Amino acid sequence: MARAMRDIHVEEVMSRNPQIVTGEMSVKEGAELLKKKGISTLIIESEGKPVGIVTDRDFVVKVIAEGLGYDAKLKDIMSSPIIMIPHDEYLSDAAKIMSRRKIRKLPVVKDGKIVGILSENDIVRISPDLIALAQEYAKLHTGEEENVNKIEEYIAGKCEVCGQYSLRLTMYKGMLVCPECLDSMK
Ligand SMILES: [Zn+2]
Repeated sequence: MARAMRDIHVEEVMSRNPQIVTGEMSVKEGAELLKKKGISTLIIESEGKPVGIVTDRDFVVKVIAEGLGYDAKLKDIMSSPIIMIPHDEYLSDAAKIMSRRKIRKLPVVKDGKIVGILSENDIVRISPDLIALAQEYAKLHTGEEENVNKIEEYIAGKCEVCGQYSLRLTMYKGMLVCPECLDSMK
């Protein structure tokens, strides 16, 4: 019998060696890098810290649909903050985060560094039903932040209150805030 999803860690399934680049790279260079490496995702770092993600879809939806020039920068089309999962979490939780956040790529983080990327396809390959189950779960738990927060996920970027970088931003009153600011706001 196949192993239960509870037993499979994301790091067993993720693709390794993520391409990490600066947001100053042009979309032309970014697209060329995807093609050359045969990959679909770039991680954007600033000062050695992950701040955003660009997928092949962003080139279509943002560059072409919005008529950006090829000299636009990756930071102009990246999704930020970046949502990540710790390396020792389980596939079932990864599927829930993807469903809830409506993302298809989930960077995997270890000691503050991105060590891999888990894609929806990686999960489907292991367990075709898991994404559908997670979507049901997401539907059932819409609006229940408390429940969702039991899943270990990192939301990384700059705090909208103090401007400091944090791996653990939380949405609070419409703003992404770091744990320290969250405490002082409550
Ligand atoms: Zn803050």
